[in-house]
Parts: sequence; C-alpha cells; structure tokens
Amino acid sequence: TREIQLASRPAGWPTHDNFRMVATELPEPGPGQLLVRNTVMSVDPYMRGRMNAGKSYVPPFAIDAPLEGGAVGEVIKSSDDAFAVGDMVVHDYGWREHAVVDAVRATSIDTGRAPASAYLGVLGMTGLTAYTGLVRVAELEPGDIVFVSGAAGAVGSAVGQIAQNLGAARVIGSAGSPEKVRYLLDELGFDAAFDYHDGPVVEQLARHAPDGIDVYFDNVGGKHLEGALTHMRDFGRLALCGSIASYNDDSAIHGPRNLGLAIVRRLKLQGFIVYDNDDLAGEFQARAAEWLANGRLTYQETYVDGLDHAVDALLDVFRGANLGKMLVRLAH
Ligand code: NDP
Repeated sequence: TREIQLASRPAGWPTHDNFRMVATELPEPGPGQLLVRNTVMSVDPYMRGRMNAGKSYVPPFAIDAPLEGGAVGEVIKSSDDAFAVGDMVVHDYGWREHAVVDAVRATSIDTGRAPASAYLGVLGMTGLTAYTGLVRVAELEPGDIVFVSGAAGAVGSAVGQIAQNLGAARVIGSAGSPEKVRYLLDELGFDAAFDYHDGPVVEQLARHAPDGIDVYFDNVGGKHLEGALTHMRDFGRLALCGSIASYNDDSAIHGPRNLGLAIVRRLKLQGFIVYDNDDLAGEFQARAAEWLANGRLTYQETYVDGLDHAVDALLDVFRGANLGKMLVRLAH
C-alpha cells in the first residue's frame, strides 16, 4: 500500500518536491482499531496551513509522516465490535490507500442516503462549515442580503443554497471564472454573481449589492474582505471562514484598510473553526438530508484519479480548477 508524506515545508506555493510517495506494508489493526481501504479522500485548502511549522488550531503535519485529511472507505478488518467488515466509514486518515483507524475516530456512514463522497462534502465537514458560519456565526435572519466569496467551491456553494433555504432576501456570489458565475446563476439560483477577475470586488459589489450586505461569508480574505466591508449595512455580520487568497503568500499580508467601518456600522466580525461546532452536526444533517431529498441543496464534485495525482489536486484547488468539492478517487 502507499501513502503521501510531507518531505519538507513549502515556502509560498507548494511544489511536488515538498511531498513524497512511500510504499509501506499493509498495516494490521490493533485492539479497538479498524483497517480501512480508502476509496475517496478530501482535498482541503486548510491543509496548506498545516504544512507550516508553528502553533495553530491543529498541530502541523510532521516531516516524513503521512499527510492527514478526511477520507471515506470500507472496513476490511475490524478489531472492534461496533464495526463489521464491509462497513463504510468516514475518518481523518486520508492521503494513504489503507488506514489503521481507532474505532472511536471512525463514523459509520449510510450510503443508502447519499453516496459515500457526500460525507466528505455537503453532508460532512464542508456542509457543517457552511451551516455553522451562517446560522451560528453570522446569525442569519430571513430577509438578509448575503454575499459569499469562493461561491462555486465546496463550502461556498453550500452557503449560497442554505442561505436561500433559510430565507435570505438576496444571495450574491463571487468566483473565479465565467463558467463558475454561470453555474451560480443558472444552476444554484443565486440572485447575482460576478467573476472577481473582471474588476475590483468593491466596484462589482456596488453593482450587485446596491442595497448593501447584511451577512458576508468570507472564504477568501484580502480584497474580498475589504470590498465587502465597504458595502456592509449597519449591524451586519461577517463570518470569517477562510482567507485562501493569502495561504500561499509568504509576504506580509495587508489587513483591510477600512476596518474602521466596523465601528461606524456596528459590525460583528467573527472567525470560526468548524471543529468547535460538532454540537450542530445532528441538526445540520437532518436539515441537509431533507434539502438534498427535495432538491433544495445540490452539490458538485471534481474528481482526480489515484493517489499519484493527489498533490496535483491540492495545487489545483489553489488554482481554482475545482467546481464544488475537490476529491481524489482511490481505485485499488
Ligand atoms: P473550495 O472548494 O472553495 O476551493 C477553493 C477555491 O478558492 C478555489 O476553487 C478557487 O476558486 C478559490 N480561490 C483560490 N485562490 C483564490 C484567490 N486568490 N482569490 C479568490 N478565490 C480563490 O474549498 P473549500 O470549500 O474546501 O474551502 C473554502 C474556504 O473555506 C477556504 O478558505 C478554506 O480554508 C475555508 N474552510 C474553513 C473551515 C473552517 O472551519 N473555518 C472549514 C473548511 C474550509 P475560484 O475559481 O473562484 O478562484
């Protein structure tokens, strides 16, 4: 079996030299453990932060150790009574073809309700991130005008649809290509969408959010955050979810120059990490399952095949090559 290890810490954009494919013996599960044959793994922007040394909300990846990330797979050996061979589970030991997983860190998934991959995306961490940011952090109210950046990505596409389902008056999205803008308008029913390459965000928002913004769901940071701040309405809320524009930028990052507006407009800006909000997972999954069943929550997936191409998949997320959730299919 094989795994991808971190060979060295990237400076700026990662390159293939920062990673190494390693062949290993098929591991044996110890007591209370499972051996899982991973079938699909998640590719996530936050992994870039874990490649840096230093303290954060999760420990950094260790050099010469396998990367970690969400994955789904089939139990092929079980030393725990709660799991049987053949069960499908979701866990955090991706970036390898087979994983030994402590049973307490594996969750059974119901592939009758949705394909296994959905538990990495819309029904999993991604969907919960969107829901948490809107409901708990931004305290979305019916009638709110919502702007989301990274809108055609995994989190962003869920944000726009969930906001609509919860009664937003107007949903505006930004994304990085004309195809993505068309997807937002034609398939997800956003009220407005724009390509941030077509002009400064602050100017495009003047056109697409003429009445201002109550809730900004920030996946990007930088000029998106500064542009959104300019258009926030009094008592607006900003859920700070990610700042992908700067993940590969090792130069000094300028903060929004107009942060003083937070005082004038009495804004609330709050960063959040999905992991602190597991208590919302049950409520979210029940609502998401209903929305999926009645077509009010749809999702896209972009697949890359094989562990050999997983590093390319990660680089592609930063280049915006994905529509919806970026996944690696492990056929072995
Ligand atoms: P996405 O599926 O949205 O993929 C990332 C997208 O970011 C790309 O497709 C690209 O789309 C866009 N992008 C890349 N570079 C830039 C740039 N310089 N400016 C603007 N857009 C850019 O990933 P996820 O849905 O998994 O994650 C979205 C965000 O949410 C990330 O910032 C991530 O770190 C964050 N996140 C935070 C969590 C939390 O707990 N706080 C949990 C999960 C995710 P485009 O073509 O539009 O440029």
